[in-house]
Amino acid sequence: MKTETQCLHAGYTPKNGEPRVLPVVQSTTFTYDSTAEVARLFDLEETGFFYSRIGNPTVDAVEKKIAALEGGVGALCTSSGQAAVLLAALNLARCGDHIVSAASIYGGTHNLFDVTLRRFGIETTFVDQDASDEELARAFRPTTRLVYGETLANPALSVLDIERFARLAHARGLPLLVDNTFATPVLCRPMAFGADIVIHSTTKYMDGHAVQLGGAIVDSGNFDWRSGAFPEFTEPDPSYHGLVYADAFGRAAYIAKARVQLMRDMGCCQTAQGAFYTNLGLETLPLRMRRHCENAEAAARWLAAQDKVEWVRYPRLSGDPYAALAEKYLPDGASGVVSFSFKGGRDAGARFIDALRLISLETHVADIRTSVLHPASSTHRQLSDAQLAAAGITPGMVRLSVGLEAWDDILADLQRAMDAA
Ligand SMILES: *Cc1c(COP(=O)(O)O)cnc(C)c1O
Repeated sequence: MKTETQCLHAGYTPKNGEPRVLPVVQSTTFTYDSTAEVARLFDLEETGFFYSRIGNPTVDAVEKKIAALEGGVGALCTSSGQAAVLLAALNLARCGDHIVSAASIYGGTHNLFDVTLRRFGIETTFVDQDASDEELARAFRPTTRLVYGETLANPALSVLDIERFARLAHARGLPLLVDNTFATPVLCRPMAFGADIVIHSTTKYMDGHAVQLGGAIVDSGNFDWRSGAFPEFTEPDPSYHGLVYADAFGRAAYIAKARVQLMRDMGCCQTAQGAFYTNLGLETLPLRMRRHCENAEAAARWLAAQDKVEWVRYPRLSGDPYAALAEKYLPDGASGVVSFSFKGGRDAGARFIDALRLISLETHVADIRTSVLHPASSTHRQLSDAQLAAAGITPGMVRLSVGLEAWDDILADLQRAMDAA
């Protein structure tokens, strides 16, 4: 099936007389006839639902759909994108281990790696994803367990050279984990370029309507965990009577362990109702992504022609520093987010935002409604201009998340605000 068809049909195929639309199974638990059957489920000798923290039919259907879209062997839905990143990392790294991550990533992931995981004894080295292979080689340690990056980074809009990062990771016997939130599998499928694990905040374009937090981890099934560097996959798990994940689950060992061990113990699961909303979003994802890309490209071109604008970043714009990588990894468009900066600095940015009427000011991206954020007066307002510069943000920078409205209406609002800036 092609992507458009998978978005509608993968994961749930009703049998004769069953609901046409994915039903919400709003039950925390599932009943069985014998204690022997329940014992086999708990020993993972049989598959079946028994408690919705570990598996639920509605969530399962969405997991299968997202796995199909990314070309993986299995997926695990989580309560948020942050939970997906957390479980994806903890499934590989434990106290004393090390992560190599691109520096240009989502702020929440940066905090998780740089502050919270350090408290767990897991260290992260942040690298410039555009540095040479020789420079990047220096970041690796004998304790490194994974390499991490974002296809299209939020909010920097840098494009990861996935093939090169996969080569660097695989040469050292390590998996590459890629957060594909901004691109979605409609615009890029990182596993086709060598990524081993793909992560999503489904809160963004997958839901797309700003109604449901969620995350997903997808396992390509391509990484061989038996090298010896990942003892948790090859040595017995005492919490399952000595089960060995690599033997019991083969190619799906990574995603099975994430579910039956980490999700069991940490509990950050998606709900049936949440999965239902995520699924509604997924059904129209290809249509929406096409329109987000068209409107964002139009906005980027228009902004680039404005006298008051100092610079515009959109990777599909010719002249963008990531135009060549975007041509390879995002041939059909670079998603709906555009960033730009005013020559007039912080005050011009604030005046622009205050003059908008249709476009709303909010702490979100990837909504069907066009929205905008001025970091210097909101998320980063405590920083001086010098501190902003160190964070890669200019005082006049605006992040525009272009939605699905008619382009003429978006343009009219942008023009009104530009006149006021
Ligand atoms: C938003 C986001 C996250 C975190 O997702 P939540 O669903 O907000 O927890 C992770 N990665 C990227 C790239 C994001 O944009």
